[in-house]
Amino acid sequence: MDPATRTVLDDAREQLAQAIDVLGLGPEVFGMLAAPRREIAVSIPLRRDDGSIEVLPGYRVQHNTSRGPGKGGVRFDARVDIDEVRALAMWMTWKCALLDVPYGGAKGGVRVDPRAYSRAELERITRRYTSEIGPLIGPENDIPAPDIGTDEQTMAWMMDTYSVGQGHTVLGVVTGKPIALGGSQGRAASTSRGVVTIGVEALRHRDLGADGSTAAVQGFGKVGRGAARLLHQAGLRVLAVSDVDGGLFHPGGIDIAALEEYVDLHGSVVGFPDAEAIDGEAVLMADVDLLVPAAIEGVLHAGNAAGVRARVIVEGANGPLTADADRILEAAGVLIVPDILANAGGVVVSYFEWVQANQSFWWTEDEVNERLVHRMIKAWREVTEYAGARRLSLRMAATCMAVERVYQAHEVRGLYP
Ligand code: NAD
Repeated sequence: MDPATRTVLDDAREQLAQAIDVLGLGPEVFGMLAAPRREIAVSIPLRRDDGSIEVLPGYRVQHNTSRGPGKGGVRFDARVDIDEVRALAMWMTWKCALLDVPYGGAKGGVRVDPRAYSRAELERITRRYTSEIGPLIGPENDIPAPDIGTDEQTMAWMMDTYSVGQGHTVLGVVTGKPIALGGSQGRAASTSRGVVTIGVEALRHRDLGADGSTAAVQGFGKVGRGAARLLHQAGLRVLAVSDVDGGLFHPGGIDIAALEEYVDLHGSVVGFPDAEAIDGEAVLMADVDLLVPAAIEGVLHAGNAAGVRARVIVEGANGPLTADADRILEAAGVLIVPDILANAGGVVVSYFEWVQANQSFWWTEDEVNERLVHRMIKAWREVTEYAGARRLSLRMAATCMAVERVYQAHEVRGLYP
């Protein structure tokens, strides 16, 4: 396939096909799992603050619900398209199965650059999108969460809009809510905490200790920023970080607490005085032990993968490596921890939030973090053992384990009618 026209969905389907081949399952299983179970495309009419009207495309895809309700984030980004949402929904199915949380996989998005809209406009977009996808979502059906360009405020608006439609408060319809509205302690940093827990294990796998190792983080949003902070707290020196506007480098390690303060004031890492300004791409090529791409898909590809100097890559983002980059870096001996394992901390604590909301019984932050770390390390051990026993990459091992679990659920449920 021509790399120029290859999509993230092609990569996701190729991973599924390879897993089915390794597992010795038939082509009918590929047929069942390659296509989403349900999807909806919506048009969101938005009244802008100046009175004009714009119509934005939005989607919600449920890839698989055999093991439980659909689960997956909502993305507000100018690049959102249906194939991207389908791929992300498929990865959510694998992620939930791998971490053994009782959910299927789903994803949603609106094609909009949130930076170009006011808060009031974003609220109207969120509410209208929620009401358009309303028939599909619900605590027993499909439970959205934050992703690129959305946050706990977005979830509060979604929960409120859905609840108004139902006539009563439905806390369990979304996760990643503010603490004041039934959110879980520890949810905000959960994806980052999972990434760093796995990152430290992966470094150890390569005989590198956290203390004194070096890292680079691409993306300084909900995942990347928390990852940089927790890596620093774990004893690593974070030499390079970036966001969509540019990158930073400091050979002795960036002062992450100072950078966080700077970003809160200025909205970007660019201009931070205590580091050298570098190109965003250079962050991916930094000479470090651990690289955490935590921004968007496809940032490492056939055109740049050979330049990566990190020993270990832990995928904070979903799909940051194209299939070509994966092959090049595996061949070069880089240890790659796949997204469906590495960034699963968010869905694990989303599950904890849903459990707490359904029981109206809240855990402390320490309880949440301890249970999260326990699950992440258990999954890490299972995947590395599976990979070692079958001589598979961690990505293929994780995908095989997940596909096998979803296939088993299909088998025991049987086909209706
Ligand atoms: P976010 O919107 O909070 O942050 C995204 C960050 O990436 C921003 O700092 C943005 O400036 C930066 N960015 C965008 N394009 C970039 C580029 N080309 N180069 C460098 N930086 C760039 O989003 P997020 O929630 O942190 O999500 C990041 C990734 O992690 C996505 O792939 C998402 O699907 C994945 N993820 C998120 C969660 C979660 O709980 N939020 C859970 C699992 C996976």
